[in-house]
Amino acid sequence: MKIDVLTLFPEIFEYIFGWSIIGRAIKDEILDLDCINIRDFSKDKHKRVDDYPFGGGPGMVMKPEPIYDSIQSIKKDNSKVIYLSPKGKVYNQKLANRLSKEEHLILLCGHYEGIDNRIIENYVDEVISIGDFVLTGGEIPAMVLIDSIVRLIPGVLSSEDSYMEESHYDGLLEYPQYTRPREFRGHLVPPILLSGDHKKIEEWKKYESLKNTYLNRKELLEKREMTTMEKELLEKIIESNNEKN
Ligand code: SAM
Repeated sequence: MKIDVLTLFPEIFEYIFGWSIIGRAIKDEILDLDCINIRDFSKDKHKRVDDYPFGGGPGMVMKPEPIYDSIQSIKKDNSKVIYLSPKGKVYNQKLANRLSKEEHLILLCGHYEGIDNRIIENYVDEVISIGDFVLTGGEIPAMVLIDSIVRLIPGVLSSEDSYMEESHYDGLLEYPQYTRPREFRGHLVPPILLSGDHKKIEEWKKYESLKNTYLNRKELLEKREMTTMEKELLEKIIESNNEKN
């Protein structure tokens, strides 16, 4: 997969080129990541890329010409242009999964009050927000997309199971994880995990996964089709939770 990031701050990305899974995907040539400075496309003699908003209002707006030229410099028939913005649809694992199947993503990072809307209307395929809050620029959201997407490209993680068991993959939150030592300051690992009984361990994981989801993100359960076994487990969880309260 090829990912191009259009930004006014390419230096922010330097570290991630060699970082963990992203670094490995680049080294293994599964990911081709580039950062392009939108300012390089400014024809202004002072390299300005922003201007005052028409109609007044606070702050500055990124001008359309340098953004258009930077998109055109890399766009191909198979490119998908994504603008990161708090006004976009909220990002989630399902969206990450869909985007991981694209061949070329162009991630456009805004700054100041955002970008001239004519770019969004005419040259952007999708607008994505990473949550209902406002950040200073689209660079951190772009990194969020890159990291979550790259993990899903076949061959990046050592085993597909690594992400299939993770939170949100199948609409549930993950079960709790433990490692050595078996006893930490008097706190014990759940004995079932040391039992060697794989069937019981799988059942425990499913129960805990449903419990985490029920206690923290009930709305996820409403969206999910449950198996009979899951429904039974959920009933038990609800019952035991009602007894506690
Ligand atoms: N004036 C804009 C508004 O109220 O919607 C916010 C602009 S924000 C200060 C500057 C840039 O940060 C945006 O153009 C966008 O690229 C990025 N950004 C901020 N919050 C974001 C979020 N939640 N998701 C994705 N991008 C975000």
